[in-house]
Amino acid sequence: MTGSSSQFQQLEKLGEGTYATVYKGRNRSTGALVALKEINLDSEEGTPSTAIREISLMKELDYENIVTLYDVIHTENKLTLVFEYMDKDLKKYMEVHGNQGALDLKIVKSFMFQLLKGIMFCHDNRVLHRDLKPQNLLINSKGELKLGDFGLARAFGIPFNTFSNEVVTLWYRAPDVLLGSRAYTTSIDIWSAGCIFAEMCTGKPLFPGTANDDQLIKIFRLMGTPNERTWPGISQYANYKSNWQIFVPQDLRFIVPNLDSMGLNLLLSLLQMRPEARITARQALQHPWFHEITNPTPLVHQLNDPYQQNQSQQPPQHSHQHIIDQQYQ
Ligand code: ADP
Ligand code: MG
Repeated sequence: MTGSSSQFQQLEKLGEGTYATVYKGRNRSTGALVALKEINLDSEEGTPSTAIREISLMKELDYENIVTLYDVIHTENKLTLVFEYMDKDLKKYMEVHGNQGALDLKIVKSFMFQLLKGIMFCHDNRVLHRDLKPQNLLINSKGELKLGDFGLARAFGIPFNTFSNEVVTLWYRAPDVLLGSRAYTTSIDIWSAGCIFAEMCTGKPLFPGTANDDQLIKIFRLMGTPNERTWPGISQYANYKSNWQIFVPQDLRFIVPNLDSMGLNLLLSLLQMRPEARITARQALQHPWFHEITNPTPLVHQLNDPYQQNQSQQPPQHSHQHIIDQQYQ
């Protein structure tokens, strides 16, 4: 903890959350913009444990799709986290740049790819985010998307920890968590990514539930009411009910009509009801929907040259795995 708050000029408020107020700031010596996340300390309780968790996690997560924490300034009654400045969160971005909230599919693809890369990096480092939602994803003027707000995240280890039940914001909360699972894993972040994917396409939240059971019913209406045949073991969950109204699965094509069939296939893989059936971030990044990002067509293939056309029919020289691994280097 090296900084001093007088190093920064405090500018306008950027946002407010449960524990903190975030201001735009300017480094007085370099002129660089930053985001100052201020957490008021209760003098009797000392530094809140959520802040301590956020700091220790963020300092270690150094990656292009994670918001960089530059510094932590601890004064008597305030903890200030100095983050890299981002233009706006994804919720605001959709309001400003979307067509009634809906984003262009090219932008959706770029943001989904970056979101999944950020998630893969977290999961590879044994960190669950647990509160992925548009307000916690930050976009800068270069079109880069980064994961922010690790206030509720926590490192996880083997054997499984049991986490408290109330973490992921309701609309983006996975059905297994809503059913009362406490042994959840990386798959909860994947569900949230699926909800965010659909929301970027349509401009509307996919499952805007108002309470735990209402959230489950909203999911069932679309994905079908699960039973022991479709989800073996479901009746063991604490919040299982034998008298749920029975819904049949809907075709996602009608819910997200502007998404192509490859994109719908990826969306369905992210939104699997059973946590074990959900795709991983690494697998999702290799999905063919991302081929134009992972395997950009070289200009030479567009030439009307029979030799080149033959060449283009040969298998790609690099596997996608290789390309994704390269992104870490
Ligand atoms: P909380 O834990 O209170 O939800 P967040 O870290 O999510 O705090 O920040 C609250 C809001 O402040 C965000 O939704 C976003 O709008 C804004 N914000 C947070 N970090 C940054 C940043 N680095 N750059 C720009 N705006 C930010
Ligand atoms: Mg937040």
